[in-house]
Amino acid sequence: AGTFLSVRDLYVRFATEDGIVRAVDGLSFALERGRTLGIVGESGSGKSVASLAVLGLHDRRSTDVRGEILLDGQELTTAAESTLEKLRGNRMAMVFQDSLTALSPYCTVGRQIAEPYRKHTGASRREARQRAVEMLRKVGIPQAALRVDDYPHQFSGGMRQRAMIAMALVCDPELLIADEPTTALDVTVQAQILDLLKDLQQQTGSAIVLITHDLGVVANTADDLLVMYAGRAVERGTVREVLRSPQHPYTWGLLGSMPRLSSDVAEPLTPIPGAPPSLLAPPPGCPFHPRCAYPQEVGGERCATERPVLPPGRGAACHLPPDRARTLFAERPGTR
Ligand code: SF4
Ligand code: MG
Repeated sequence: AGTFLSVRDLYVRFATEDGIVRAVDGLSFALERGRTLGIVGESGSGKSVASLAVLGLHDRRSTDVRGEILLDGQELTTAAESTLEKLRGNRMAMVFQDSLTALSPYCTVGRQIAEPYRKHTGASRREARQRAVEMLRKVGIPQAALRVDDYPHQFSGGMRQRAMIAMALVCDPELLIADEPTTALDVTVQAQILDLLKDLQQQTGSAIVLITHDLGVVANTADDLLVMYAGRAVERGTVREVLRSPQHPYTWGLLGSMPRLSSDVAEPLTPIPGAPPSLLAPPPGCPFHPRCAYPQEVGGERCATERPVLPPGRGAACHLPPDRARTLFAERPGTR
């Protein structure tokens, strides 16, 4: 195995009328082939911005990307656009939340799957069309040989999402980044799409980054988990570790606001009080301290002044000692 994607000290900043937005503020993670990393956080936590930077899809004029992004040892932050174009859709690909904006309405679904295949493999039109049919079949589109000539609007939402996955996977990418791939879909279709991603990963051994605001989505799909807040990673571990004994109060909040699909009684969700901080002027110290119920546990002032560091491996960027965090998590109000 070994590390396939390595992101070290990634900073993404862009200028707005109101000032510099620090969208990603020193993010590090690593991913091996055949594994799925879930990146979880509220909207605006920097998870989508970070993934666009990995693929080099950010607006280069307005966005400043610093740090190191290594794909199979190749540095991407300084790579030429022509290099990235050879990698995108080929060795690395992306699935977005909204298939309507990702697919062109003017072009048949089959062509949109065949085009990147032709571009990267030099296949003939005929071969590429065959490949498009095969991919549609693989992602579970019935009557693929007929539907290949449909336009996106002739597909249902779930089918469009499958078609977008077919387009992303047509060149067997070694890295797939899926950004909220199931958010717009109903629960049954969600589960089907996530199963599909897992099956395809088992066939090709690709590395997957699964970005979501929903811990329920990663619970059954991802191996490892990174929780992001205000452009930083605040907790990391295997999915099992983080879901069983989360150490960061923000992760506790995410868990508390997670709907329980298995429950037959609709339980009221508990949203995390307060709002994420402004990325124009992030608070000093721990970025979560304005919303956190536990600063007094570590002496009050410390959380507002001293920035907690995420240790390597399993852990959280929080001043609470892990043992104390375990107790507080077990005792917190609303624990089920
Ligand atoms: Fe809460 Fe302090 Fe931990 Fe931040 S460092 S999460 S404010 S206890
Ligand atoms: Mg997003």
